[in-house]
Amino acid sequence: MSILIVGSTALDTIKTPTAENPRLLGGSASHASVAASFFSPVSLVGVVGEDFPKKYLQLYRRHQIDLAGLQILPGKTFHWAGEYEANMNRRRTLATELGVFETFTPTLPPAWRNLPYVLLANIAPALQHHVLNQIKKPKFVVADTMDLWLNVALPDLLKLLKRVDGFVLNDSESAQLTQTDNVFAALKKIHKMGPAYVIIKQGSHGSILSGPAGIFICPAYPLATVKDPTGAGDSFVGGLMGYLAQAKGSIDRNIRRAMIHGSVTASFCCEGFGVTRTTKTSRADIQKRVNVLEKLTRF
Ligand code: AMP
Repeated sequence: MSILIVGSTALDTIKTPTAENPRLLGGSASHASVAASFFSPVSLVGVVGEDFPKKYLQLYRRHQIDLAGLQILPGKTFHWAGEYEANMNRRRTLATELGVFETFTPTLPPAWRNLPYVLLANIAPALQHHVLNQIKKPKFVVADTMDLWLNVALPDLLKLLKRVDGFVLNDSESAQLTQTDNVFAALKKIHKMGPAYVIIKQGSHGSILSGPAGIFICPAYPLATVKDPTGAGDSFVGGLMGYLAQAKGSIDRNIRRAMIHGSVTASFCCEGFGVTRTTKTSRADIQKRVNVLEKLTRF
């Protein structure tokens, strides 16, 4: 079952205490699509400029990512630059250059309007709405977001929460949205805003799901070295949705294992700049780490 992913397709410049890498393949949809591709075929909706390197189009294709919904427009690809502090948990944005994103209107190829699994990866909520408006009867729709949209597009985001099944955000975004630092109180408040499934990500501490079948605490894979955590959240939700799209049975039956697979896929993302490490992994590598997590959490 193919999964529809819309989000940012970017060139990232990433600075860590030890290295700086310009023009990496980045963007929420790129990270999520590569992660999802280990489990399901992916249909990608996004936009890039004429400066977008051909090698990145080839990389998408190598991952069986269908590019019929990727617009290539005159102008520059969205560029994001960020810098990490010594402990790699904090980062600050150095530059956001919208380029072709400024005038982007996502348009779905007609055959994609019936796709059952939809991931609205981080992008302006108005564009997430625009994609949802083109979709017929999806089975499971999950949205991701970032602090920027809480600051500049909150009404649009709140309307979106009434239209999606699942919502994924990190702990600082959840504290901002709900005005509470208590993650369990925050989960309850976010359910009241609409989504039946809410996942709060806690970086290297894992993530917490609250859904119709209760709460699940998902660990992060224990990594002693993190090279670049950019896109870990996108890889997590991409892996999760890719896993769900190929699993038989109900969402409740599969979502815990889907989170574990998302968590493991995100761990590979953190071990290299951009998608460099993720693209070198395999379904078998992912399975090995899933087995480790299973042993670590059994009691
Ligand atoms: P994450 O580390 O999961 O928060 O995601 C990082 C990715 O988000 C990078 O690859 C960026 O290209 C992308 N990104 C940064 N700012 C924005 C934005 N305003 N809209 C959409 N994507 C963004």
